[in-house]
Amino acid sequence: MNIVIFGPPGAGKGTQSKFIVKKYNTYQLSTGDLLRDEIKNGTELGNKISSIMNSGELVSDKIVSDLIEKFISNENYKNQIIFDGYPRTLTQAKNLDILLKKYQQKIDIVLKLNVSLETIKKRISERKSIEKRADDNEEIAIKRFQTYEKSSEPVLDYYRQTKLLKVVNGENSISQINDEISGLIDSIKGWL
Ligand code: AMP
Repeated sequence: MNIVIFGPPGAGKGTQSKFIVKKYNTYQLSTGDLLRDEIKNGTELGNKISSIMNSGELVSDKIVSDLIEKFISNENYKNQIIFDGYPRTLTQAKNLDILLKKYQQKIDIVLKLNVSLETIKKRISERKSIEKRADDNEEIAIKRFQTYEKSSEPVLDYYRQTKLLKVVNGENSISQINDEISGLIDSIKGWL
């Protein structure tokens, strides 16, 4: 089973992905983490993208698509991937379908975490003291939220049409969200 977890920055995608990884024996593919690794390791790609990431904009579709293909093509992860932070644009959503098809896979469910900007601001200021991410301050958080608002609707429409989209109330507590997500995954597991 392959899962897409979708939602604004600070919605809890990473936290919920980690929960799903543990409970359903899957692997988390976070494009944000992969990109941050490039920056940390001082690679050519890392140097190219650091200012884009720190401004709250998206890096190019081509860059992230190249990164995810390495993961999708790996037999060890076949049909056990949680896409965390990918796709973020309609081009990426279409590309993901093409790539999965190339490796005889598909998406089984898209979980969308719904969260307000107020909650996001609060969560990002809490996360900043723990994770120390360069793009976690209120100004950039707002910019990242606006970037999300601009690019997310076509992606959501795309998944609405395929009937894969399930909306989860991301304002609830972590354990309530865990329960809601488990219910949704369990309900589709029966017919997979
Ligand atoms: P995240 O950790 O998912 O919040 O991502 C942090 C930053 O990485 C984003 O603000 C973007 O600059 C970049 N990024 C992560 N995933 C993508 C993606 N799928 N497409 C474009 N940029 C991305």
